[in-house]
Amino acid sequence: MPTPTTTLENSSTATSGPTTMWALQYGGPHITKWAEVPTPQIHDTTDTIVRVDMTTICGSDVHILKGDVPEVTVGRILGHEAVGTVEEIGTGVRGPQGR
Ligand SMILES: [Zn+2]
Repeated sequence: MPTPTTTLENSSTATSGPTTMWALQYGGPHITKWAEVPTPQIHDTTDTIVRVDMTTICGSDVHILKGDVPEVTVGRILGHEAVGTVEEIGTGVRGPQGR
């Protein structure tokens, strides 16, 4: 796995934390790249931001990386099998972590 050449600390702000993060992006069939992307923000009331603590690959990743999933276009951030820590929730989120 390639290692980013800069760190999150390089793009941090002193008061609100990092404004960017590293993400693995789809670059076309059999192509992936690490890219510095904006950190996620709450846009909709039902959004939740989860910091990924552990992840794994899924069988569908194999199909995506082969280019067999046309819905996944160049630039899509990859990864969908993860567990993590809830960092922020929208005002409409209900349940154990919500209101
Ligand atoms: Zn999956």
